[in-house]
Amino acid sequence: MKNDLSRRQVLAAAGLAAAPAFAADKPGVLGGSKVRTEPFPAWPVFDQREEEALLATLRSARWYRGSGQNVSRFEQAYASLTGARHCLATCNGTSALIVAVNALGVEPGDEVVVPPYTFIATINIVLRQHALPVFVDTDPETFQIDARRIEAAFTDRTRAVIPVHLGGNAADLDAILPLAARKNVPVIEDACQAHLAEWKGRKLGTLGAAGCFSFQASKNLNSGEGGALLTNDASLHERGYAFHNNGSGLKAIGSNFTYASTGANLRLTEFQAAILLAQMTRLDEQVKARTANGRFLTSMLKEIPGILPAREYPGCTNNAYHLYMFRYKKEQFAGLPREKFLKALNAEGIPASGGYSPLNRQPFIQTAIQSRGYKRLYPEKTLKEWQERNQCPANDQLCQEAVWFTQNMLIGPRSDMEQIAAAIRKISANAAELVRA
Ligand SMILES: *Cc1c(COP(=O)(O)O)cnc(C)c1O
Repeated sequence: MKNDLSRRQVLAAAGLAAAPAFAADKPGVLGGSKVRTEPFPAWPVFDQREEEALLATLRSARWYRGSGQNVSRFEQAYASLTGARHCLATCNGTSALIVAVNALGVEPGDEVVVPPYTFIATINIVLRQHALPVFVDTDPETFQIDARRIEAAFTDRTRAVIPVHLGGNAADLDAILPLAARKNVPVIEDACQAHLAEWKGRKLGTLGAAGCFSFQASKNLNSGEGGALLTNDASLHERGYAFHNNGSGLKAIGSNFTYASTGANLRLTEFQAAILLAQMTRLDEQVKARTANGRFLTSMLKEIPGILPAREYPGCTNNAYHLYMFRYKKEQFAGLPREKFLKALNAEGIPASGGYSPLNRQPFIQTAIQSRGYKRLYPEKTLKEWQERNQCPANDQLCQEAVWFTQNMLIGPRSDMEQIAAAIRKISANAAELVRA
């Protein structure tokens, strides 16, 4: 501190008062010592609870939901934890979304409103249905779909809207739910990153017609692979159940080979449900740690010029922080490109990534929409207008500025957050030198 002060005084005397005030430590990327040498908490977390549950399932010889109890026990537990009337477990989050669009009757020739800032599964499930994904630009302040632009994206072909609660932060449901109700368009919440996040005290995934979750290895609740659909609508649950069970309805599993509908086999196994039940014993504690650490980190990072943590809409009463996300403004870091910022941060022992690329610009989507099947299903004019409307400039820019930390970095002690902030301050103080390096 004393050194810094005198150094600052010297710089000031030399007419260089604008020079960095805390450029004391040499950045790790330039050979200086790292801010953090310990790894962040490992993920997944498990102990003898998982071991015992897996062994018990193995020895029971009941490995699928038709013979065991774990899957239905998990469904009951997750429904009661979230306050949903019904929960349907599926083999992954993509499948939960596939069940939702099928149970809600999205068909080839329909349109589905989606964000461009999401994991690709949100878009793929629309394309696999041979429906048209209509992209609505992102609100860069929150990283969520820009609800103000959704109405203009609706047409008389719109059959569903899929807001994604990206990063565990909430999309603006106070704007989306009433609009969708007025237009009679069902809302499928993609809550694959938003376990136990809340909107005005209610759990995300329970406010739309259906809410879809993923329990893939990286997610805040995980069984390697796994998923679930929540709904308060008994008939939707029944249709979803049949769809995930090769069309065999709730009472028909393993019975007389007659079917309620078309479908696929998208069932969760008893092994995965056993892991999920064990993982749920730690969930509350992990959620609390992420919330407290996420908020504390924001309180520090928002003070650093050029770092803009994702804002929350007022209705978001709990952010699940599947990702900790902020925008990086290089102009305030002496023009240091984001890629160099990320490299410098990683060299301080703080793993970070730049997140998604603009999905609406993926060449494979163009290929799909120009395919024989799409040309047969949609008037030429519709496809041409789709090309013209497919502009998401705010999202394009966000994809160049985003920085992410993964959720496991937020389950350790509060001092971990102080180190993250210290590393960013150090890079900020040395930005000019890093630009030249
Ligand atoms: C993970 C994820 C999915 C897909 O879930 P899987 O279990 O990997 O199939 C869908 N949407 C979002 C936003 C996701 O993060």
